[in-house]
Amino acid sequence: MTSDSIGYYTGSIEETHAAAREDVLALGEFGAWIGSESRSADSGEEFATLDPVVGEEICSVPQCTATDVDAAVKAAQEAFDGGWGACSPQERSNAMLSWVATLRENVGDLALVESLDGGKPLKHALVETKYALDFLEYYAKVVQADEGITVPTDDDMHVYTRHEPHGVVGLITPWNFPLTISFWKLGPALAAGNAAVIKPAEQTPLSMLYAAELSKDILPDGTLNVVTGFGEEAGAPLTEHAAVGKVSFTGEDVTGKTVMKAAAETVTAVTLELGGKSPYVVFPSADVKKAVRDVAHGIFYNAGQSCDACSRVLVHEDIAEEFTEGLVARAEGLTPGDTLVEGTTVGPLISADQFEKVTDYVEIGREEGATCVTGGAVEDGDLTDGWYVRPTVLTDVDNDMRVAQEEIFGPVEVITTFETYDEAIELANDVEFGLAAGVATENTTLAHRAAADIEAGSVWINGNYATPIPGGPFGGYKQSGIGRECSRDALRHFTQEKAVHVALDEPSL
Ligand code: NDP
Repeated sequence: MTSDSIGYYTGSIEETHAAAREDVLALGEFGAWIGSESRSADSGEEFATLDPVVGEEICSVPQCTATDVDAAVKAAQEAFDGGWGACSPQERSNAMLSWVATLRENVGDLALVESLDGGKPLKHALVETKYALDFLEYYAKVVQADEGITVPTDDDMHVYTRHEPHGVVGLITPWNFPLTISFWKLGPALAAGNAAVIKPAEQTPLSMLYAAELSKDILPDGTLNVVTGFGEEAGAPLTEHAAVGKVSFTGEDVTGKTVMKAAAETVTAVTLELGGKSPYVVFPSADVKKAVRDVAHGIFYNAGQSCDACSRVLVHEDIAEEFTEGLVARAEGLTPGDTLVEGTTVGPLISADQFEKVTDYVEIGREEGATCVTGGAVEDGDLTDGWYVRPTVLTDVDNDMRVAQEEIFGPVEVITTFETYDEAIELANDVEFGLAAGVATENTTLAHRAAADIEAGSVWINGNYATPIPGGPFGGYKQSGIGRECSRDALRHFTQEKAVHVALDEPSL
């Protein structure tokens, strides 16, 4: 399958996944990508990456450690010094656009890899892969229009600015949107003239490895490097490496703080995209049906494993019953199933650990006094080898309960009611995170006021919840992070600004 289409599989779940494994393994070598070569770890050690639908190994990948990270950083430094850092934005842009074209030619295969390794319904994986590529293309194009400034001053001075790359940058990504988050970072990093070393999450290394193999003979050798491995063994050495000039991390808030401390040792610039507990406020003036649709997408897409999932609904008490009935009906209409067959809308959670965490939270909610109206683990049928949780709705939730304060990272919606505007805003802001928010109201003034009053990096009003677009900044307030991705400004985060002051002598003629 090498086109813009997806070929669904048929047969039993064991048969479809065995066939897909074979198809994926035929695509690439899936070694660490260092200096544009597929390599084993220096130690020779490997670890398995699992298919979360059937709980079986897809293949093993190198278990890189500090030695391999060092080799990748050296390869990146050579690429940077060898020309990538100094070539014109147009040359970089052209190379990136050629890579994008090759990735687009192979988008069906990339989506299959992403689906199998990440447990995503194939159709969703295709949509996400195309979406991820849009960001790479956006940065390749936007860098062509990048410019510095001339600073107005006296006639005897000429002052202007340059935006220069950091050199080698370290990018660390989580398992929930492997390609999308990688390209959010690689787009601005490469376009700005940096060479990159990327460490994908241990659970989902395959799509980035395959995308890197497809960069062979397109990006100059060493411009893009991928080291697979565990956080402490491969991620930490990257954040501590003296030659890495910038670290961009997406993941859990606790890990983000560790990354920030490590980067402090070498005064390395960091961008952090961390967790969320994002509110969706449904005012009495909302179109309830529309709000139900948007919330269901915002919490149940990707089995709720989205940093910006709207994992708390705050709904006005007058419409709470209508809204809850609508959401429960919507949740029950979503179909957990084999991710490789047509019609499946809910895949499994990524791992046994995540399954345990999410199902534990549902129990914690019950113990705290919440009511589980629908959902819970899938306990029978042919999905029990995977880590499936049905779309779940908890009602009777107070904002001080753990299920309303802590990131569950699964398909679990918690519903709290409010009476007044001030109460809604107070509840919305009463968490330590501030990544995103949704607002549903047909009252335009109220919509803008709520958007201003809610402490979050992104607010979606009346639809399209949690879909950052190329050019629209994405990032967190409070403990959800530092810096922004997806926007033109992200190019700035991958450069250092230099002011050049030129003294102008009197002309001697
Ligand atoms: P983690 O924080 O555990 O891991 C993220 C990445 O960091 C992985 O590649 C991991 O490696 C690596 N890592 C772990 N320890 C270290 C370390 N000491 N130094 C450097 N790197 C390290 O998050 P998850 O992968 O478990 O992702 C889920 C979490 O990420 C959720 O809490 C979610 O909220 C958050 N997230 C936030 C997003 C945002 O944009 N704000 C987007 C997506 C997720 P390994 O996996 O190999 O251990």
